[in-house]
Amino acid sequence: MKSLKTVAITLCAGIMLVSCAGKKKEAEKTTVSKTEVKSTPITINTPDEALAELKAGNQRFFEGKLVNTNYKAEIEETKDGQHPHSIILSCIDSRVPPEIIFDQGIGHIFVARVAGNIIDPNELGSLEFATAAKHSKLIVVLGHSKCGAIEGAVNDVKLGNLTQLLTQIKPAIVGDSTNKPMMMEQTTKKNIALTIAKILKESPTINALVKEGKVKIVGAYDDITTGKVAFL
Ligand SMILES: [Zn+2]
Repeated sequence: MKSLKTVAITLCAGIMLVSCAGKKKEAEKTTVSKTEVKSTPITINTPDEALAELKAGNQRFFEGKLVNTNYKAEIEETKDGQHPHSIILSCIDSRVPPEIIFDQGIGHIFVARVAGNIIDPNELGSLEFATAAKHSKLIVVLGHSKCGAIEGAVNDVKLGNLTQLLTQIKPAIVGDSTNKPMMMEQTTKKNIALTIAKILKESPTINALVKEGKVKIVGAYDDITTGKVAFL
């Protein structure tokens, strides 16, 4: 089925071909249809609904059919308050921007980012703010392929303050070092699992919300070669 925008553009193109009269009017109509693109209405009440929206958003991103790109409208909608449905704990990698790869625009998700998507008291406090204070329903720990932080931990890189960060990833190192790509993927996924376990262990606040069914925590793995996110 053609979208309204496609129909408007097709109609406009057709009219421009056959008649100069009305050209200006139809051109205006096309412009209006572009600015009328609405952000996804946020009516998310459960962790499962939040997860479904992130899965749908990544599918839209994967297919190049983003809907949450009307930033001016989203700024207007969120100027008096925010109600993000989820918080994403993500690596800092420039190829993994959560708002874009989940097509969530402005005001829809919190994002906490640190190399290697590890957890520390500051990240934990941020997750507690999102879930306990702002009622976000879902925590996603997002790792990704070809992660420089994971590679640094595996290769025992030493560099200033990065050294202690990489030390926090090392308990996740698994796999056969003769197969580096496989080892990296396995370590990335183990790191996600350990991060989730650490959140539940070190935050009684989040642990209680999870037990009450008000919050869910899931792991996710972004394949940066495709933009496709697999939920673990
Ligand atoms: Zn990374």
